[in-house]
Amino acid sequence: MTVLVCSDLDRTLIYSAAAFALDGPDETMPRLLCVEFYQGAPLSYMTEASARTLETLVTAATFVPTTTRTPEQYRRVQLLEKPPAYAICANGGHLLVDGEDDPEWAETVRNRVAEGCAPLADVQHHLVQVSGDFVLKRRSASGLFAYMVVDRASLPSGWVEDLTGWCAERGWRTSLQGRKVYCLPARLTKAAAAAEVARRAGASTTLSAGDSLLDVELLEAADLSIRPAHGELHDTGWTAPTTAVTAARGVAAGQEIADWLLERAAEP
Ligand SMILES: [Mg+2]
Repeated sequence: MTVLVCSDLDRTLIYSAAAFALDGPDETMPRLLCVEFYQGAPLSYMTEASARTLETLVTAATFVPTTTRTPEQYRRVQLLEKPPAYAICANGGHLLVDGEDDPEWAETVRNRVAEGCAPLADVQHHLVQVSGDFVLKRRSASGLFAYMVVDRASLPSGWVEDLTGWCAERGWRTSLQGRKVYCLPARLTKAAAAAEVARRAGASTTLSAGDSLLDVELLEAADLSIRPAHGELHDTGWTAPTTAVTAARGVAAGQEIADWLLERAAEP
């Protein structure tokens, strides 16, 4: 019996210092392992206990990092001693097999997106028009979607809601995560890529974890799933009958999620 475990990375398994949410006294802080360097500086972490749990998890299940990061951004993350066989990047737009992009899958996704969603160029044009000083950077990713780094405190009220409405009319959706606002084609889902990996791996059971609106289909499609008690889904009060919620917040929730996934994956 093959168990498939698809987990989001940022604010689910790995955390930047801004997302630690550690509020106890310093001497009670867990030991942390840096898993990502960016421009020569440490950026993302998990607890050492979490790292040990993930090493055991890969012996019990097919573990698939499932992220909105581009392949380039994903490759910076040293999650495990040995990179996993599969990774889902660009919110399902790229499937990495033994570290290499699967061109057939990338084409399948691009065709699917082109059928039901407005072109990226239209969305980029709109984003230029609605940007103000509060938009610090505008980027596109994998030729599939757009995101902006924003000064969240200065976002005009109703701005994200207006953008969400504009996107919805064009087969797109938004997600607000920390300092980033994402605009993605609605048909670009992690769940579709996860289903493809399940088919290839012959998985009979699927577990998943995630914290944002972009993880909803992934959480719902799994037999069992878990989300942290922080982040976009938590802020909107999102729940589902098969989705557990952690007791902890921040990097400690990451450890709780790793433990939960291992416990369920190791069940006979
Ligand atoms: Mg996340």
